[in-house]
Amino acid sequence: MASKKAYNVEINRSYCKSCGLCYWICPTKTIIKGKYDKPEIPDQTKCIGCLQCERICPDFAINVVEIVEEKSEENK
Ligand code: SF4
Ligand code: SF4
Repeated sequence: MASKKAYNVEINRSYCKSCGLCYWICPTKTIIKGKYDKPEIPDQTKCIGCLQCERICPDFAINVVEIVEEKSEENK
């Protein structure tokens, strides 16, 4: 069975200036426009790890981290 990769999208609120580029570029709408144009992430599981948000953010406020799960013995 193929395992689906999971990602954790972290936004450093003290760096973010609510420019909107991250939710404009996100292809899966994992990041959406929230109150006062602030980025919101209601559902992390939608993220496909394309890193476009991390690359486009002018203030280096986004960090996308792959969630590493324990591999079962059969894949060794
Ligand atoms: S691209 Fe960066 S600065 Fe702009 S809204 Fe997103 S997190 Fe904030
Ligand atoms: S890594 Fe890609 S899919 Fe995930 S939040 Fe960023 S732009 Fe969206």
